[in-house]
Amino acid sequence: MTILRRLSVAASLAVLAIGAHAAPHRPAVSAPMTSTPSPSDGQTPARDADAQRTEADYAQGKVDRLAERYGHLEDVTVTLGITPEGKEAVAYYTEGRIVISDAHTVSIDTILEHEIWHVIDWRDNGRLDWGEDLPPDNSQTYLRQ
Ligand SMILES: [Zn+2]
Repeated sequence: MTILRRLSVAASLAVLAIGAHAAPHRPAVSAPMTSTPSPSDGQTPARDADAQRTEADYAQGKVDRLAERYGHLEDVTVTLGITPEGKEAVAYYTEGRIVISDAHTVSIDTILEHEIWHVIDWRDNGRLDWGEDLPPDNSQTYLRQ
């Protein structure tokens, strides 16, 4: 059952990968996220410019540190900004680019610990085949030797 479900998720993501350069991904981290209000609801206002810069610096620093551990993350960039449908974050995995919503409600750590794996998934073999159950069970095999 679980395997079948994961396969069908992988199949739909693979179609997205062919048809589009960027497939939005909402981090699948916890139930509350699925009811996260979009920025247009006015309940989660965007950070002001200073706060966004501070958060963006923090996020990029975290990705840079992760890239020291996982070679597949080299040159991955992360910014804060507008995401499709008010999603918490989007991984533009073919470009090695992550955008975190400037109105995100989930911590940057939690978001990145999910989104980076879409990039690693893609860079591993040019396909998205891990679905949303991230990190994968074999994540440690992607550590730099
Ligand atoms: Zn995702």
